[in-house]
Amino acid sequence: MPHALVWFRDDLRLDDQPALQAAIAQGYAPVPVYVHAPEEEGDWTPGAASDAWRRRSLAALDASLRARGSRLVCVRGPTQAALERLARDTQAEAVFWTRRYEPAIEQRDTALKWTLRQSGLFAQSHNGALLIEPWDVATKAGDPYKVFTPFWKAAAAVMRTPRTFDAPARLPPVTIDGESIDALLPSPTPTWDRPFWTHWTPGEDGARAALQAFVSKVADYPEARDLPAIDGTSSLSPHLHFGEVSIQRVYATIAQCDAPKEARIAYLRQLFWREFAHHLLHHFPRTTDHNLDPRFDAFEWAPIDDAQLNAWKSGRTGIPIVDAGMRQLWQTGWMHNRVRMLVASLLTKHMRTHWIEGARWFWDTLVDADLANNTLGWQWVAGTGADAAPYFRIFNPLLQARRFDPDGAYVRRWVPELGTKDYPVPIVDLAVAREAALAAYSRRGGIP
Ligand code: FAD
Repeated sequence: MPHALVWFRDDLRLDDQPALQAAIAQGYAPVPVYVHAPEEEGDWTPGAASDAWRRRSLAALDASLRARGSRLVCVRGPTQAALERLARDTQAEAVFWTRRYEPAIEQRDTALKWTLRQSGLFAQSHNGALLIEPWDVATKAGDPYKVFTPFWKAAAAVMRTPRTFDAPARLPPVTIDGESIDALLPSPTPTWDRPFWTHWTPGEDGARAALQAFVSKVADYPEARDLPAIDGTSSLSPHLHFGEVSIQRVYATIAQCDAPKEARIAYLRQLFWREFAHHLLHHFPRTTDHNLDPRFDAFEWAPIDDAQLNAWKSGRTGIPIVDAGMRQLWQTGWMHNRVRMLVASLLTKHMRTHWIEGARWFWDTLVDADLANNTLGWQWVAGTGADAAPYFRIFNPLLQARRFDPDGAYVRRWVPELGTKDYPVPIVDLAVAREAALAAYSRRGGIP
């Protein structure tokens, strides 16, 4: 049987893994490989929390490959040289992978496919991360979508019922050696990530358990999803980012579960926000660092105030729901979506700090840091992005807390010293800061 490299990236699973399936279906003996090349990710090399997750996820993948008679060969980049060397060493004739959509990676992969083919290898990529790839839908005029609802309708209309494939029961042995995962991605020192792992289990088993646990909660999702004190969302975001469960598997499981139709649709609609984010990232690659709406390029962001920014990062702004969110992020690597919106709003509106500062902090600290979803989220809250909340709509974090955390359970969990002399006074006067933000907005003419 000829060999083929199956190059694992953000698709760290064996279940419903199109690259692995394709290699087997085309008659190859798969050699699973991982190439560590963070410097090829452009300006967005993975953050610390992502790396902490990835090392565990790779270990989980290696363990399930070993249970099937194979294993994961981990090597250092540069990617092209590494794949060519691995192909030579294993006498592989082909390389299979699933596609990624980050701008620097799309560029690299396009060039790489061509080079590998030039060197005589069969190179084939597959969709392994999305329900609808960015080029599968366009407006009537042939343009990319910039508004969510029409995107969702168009995407849902062309979507086929997902087909899913189980993991292979056995895989052929692998005879070459690589480096240890620990050598490529050492454990963080000091072990600041330890508290994460009481909340999360990276890897395919953890992803499957999270999906199964959520099935019984789907019926409550429409109400519960906005209440940060409740475990009412699926917590699948890091598992989806690292591809530990396929989006098709998630979609099919929820679409077919017993929950009422409105609840199932409410959840599936959220999955399409992820699709929309990837559509935007592919078509507007500069938006990782630049406003999607160029009218904001002249906006007067305030100069960076290090003390204020550090108070925001460390959850000591004196605004309880914001501090609760920032501490949840620090201690678990994740933050509830409603609270992400509130902390982002305080930063970009009351503090008038450029959204890129917040996006960079999230990038380093979130275990689900995802260039598409993070860019969309920040530009949406800042008012600079696609289908964004208008800049002049400024959340009042105190009213929001009263509405979404009415008995204060979420805030008390993360800010136990609230009400004592140890809790800081607010770094901004919400009313004054709101007026200042609106004034800055109208100075540049306002945007409808
Ligand atoms: P659920 O409510 O269970 O949703 C299911 C899945 O749908 C999520 O796992 C996610 O993949 C997708 N999804 C849900 N909401 C959104 C959304 N608004 N945009 C895109 N996809 C969505 N999400 C990330 O995965 N990575 C990020 O780096 C990220 N950064 C964000 C930054 C800001 C400022 C904001 C406001 C939101 C951000 N989000 C990000 C979106 C959202 O907050 C998380 O996807 C969600 O909280 C994850 O929790 P969950 O899996 O329990 O969500």
